[in-house]
Parts: sequence; structure tokens; C-alpha cells
Amino acid sequence: MNRDFIRFERPADRVARIVLARDDMRNAQNTQLLYELNDAFDEAACNDDISVIILAADGDHFSAGHDITEFDFKKNIDAYETVGVWSGFHGEGVEALYAREREIYLEFSERWRNIPKPTIAEVQGMAIAGALLLIWPCDLIVAAEDARFLDNTVEMGVGGVEYFAHVGELGPRKAKEYLFTADWITAEEAHRLGMVNHVVAPEKLSADTLALAQRIAKKPLFALKLAKEAANTMEDAAGRVAGMKNAFHLHHLAHSHNMVRFGMPVDPSGVPEKIRDKIMKHVAVLKGER
Ligand code: ZN
Repeated sequence: MNRDFIRFERPADRVARIVLARDDMRNAQNTQLLYELNDAFDEAACNDDISVIILAADGDHFSAGHDITEFDFKKNIDAYETVGVWSGFHGEGVEALYAREREIYLEFSERWRNIPKPTIAEVQGMAIAGALLLIWPCDLIVAAEDARFLDNTVEMGVGGVEYFAHVGELGPRKAKEYLFTADWITAEEAHRLGMVNHVVAPEKLSADTLALAQRIAKKPLFALKLAKEAANTMEDAAGRVAGMKNAFHLHHLAHSHNMVRFGMPVDPSGVPEKIRDKIMKHVAVLKGER
């Protein structure tokens, strides 16, 4: 696959560094970027010479989240070999939106979370909503002091991003406050809560993340895989997968509710004015008016 928005680097022996390279759009995630990212993760996962995978981003901000300027997504998804088998990407009613989000916002993130090798997210600046779908599936998170994390979906009439890892990441009490207030969590607070492994000076972010990756990469890869599998399976046995599926379906109950009430998947009153117009265009496409 040609990659326009993702760069694949080999910064050190046994380490891959996958970079979101759409800095001009604050690394907003369109369909193409997500499929390119999935392809890059596959490449790193299947190469036995790679033990550790870093996920990083160009520019001042990790990611602005989903690219809501992408209007023709029904067509876009046809260009790719899907990872799930749910299909229905051209269905009527809520079917197409559900199918699309299930594929690229839930099954992708779940797939990356289950890559057997250690993965490390390297995060600077803003990480908004959909950004969490790339960061949380990673095993470790190294954040610059200026990193901050936001899930503002409640303001838009939705009860959390599609990959509902909030409770596991923050603990139930803080997760609820995070969702209810739609406030930022700073790198320092995320570190205190156990969501982030290390907070470092912005100018040291890449070097420190790479140093951590290199330390891990010296260990036997098979043992690393076994350690990850053991930890992940404990979370899954505690109900993580079922809980997340339930949350995803509540997320789509919200999208459907908003479609009936407001004619768009989100409550427009919570959407900043400057992007509300873009969403209206997006909705016009959904309705076949454009
Ligand atoms: Zn959604």
C-alpha cells in the first residue's frame, strides 16, 4: 500500500517507528490514514526483526481526532480490504454508519491492541477524541509535558468515543468525571492516574521514547509476546471486550437518537460553530442530498 499520511521508520535495531504524517491537518484521521496505519502496524507486527513498535506523530499535536471534512466515506471505504467481516457499508438507515465505525473505530483499535509485540505511543500536544483510539490501544504511553487528552463527545450528545477504554485507563470514578465534564486531562494528571507511563520534556520526547523501546527490544521477543498476552488476557477475562462492545452499541444508540432528533449523528449544540457547517455538509452526503 502506498502511504501518503503514514511514515514507517527504523530508528534503531529491532525498533519500528510509525509516524502520523498529516501535520497540515493536525494529523486528523481520514479513512485513508487509518488504513495506512493499519497496514504499517501489520508490516511491523509480521517482521520478526522488529520487537517494539513506537506510534508517533509529526508536528505540535498528536491528533485532532477524526477528520470530519471527509464527506464521501461510503465510497472511500470501498478502496480498502476491510479487516472485519460485518460489511454493510452501503446499507440504508443507520447500517452504513454503524458498519463504518465498527470497522475503522472499533475493530482497528482492538486489532492494534492485540498486536503481540510491545507498542509505545509517543504523544505531544493535543490528543482529541479519536486520538484516544490510537493511543489507548498501545501498551505504554510516553507523553510530553505539553500533552493533553480530551474526550468531548458528551457535549455532542454521545457518551464517549467508540473505543471505550476510559474506565480501564482512568479508573471508574475519574473516567466518569472525564466524560461528564468533557475537560482536558493533562499529561501530569494522566501520569498520576496511571494512564501514562512517563512524562518528559517536549524536546526529549522522541529520544526518551526510543531509549525505552531499545531497552525493551533487547529482551527475548517471544517472552515479550507471552508477557503481553498474559496481561491482555487478564483484562479480557475481567470483561473488557464485552464492556467495550456494550459501550460501542450505546455510542450508536446516541448516533441514532441524534439522527432522529437533529438529523445528524451528533447534537449540533455541542459542536463549535466553525465545524458545524462541515458536519451539515457531511450529513447532506449521508442523506444523499450531495
Ligand atoms: Zn461515532
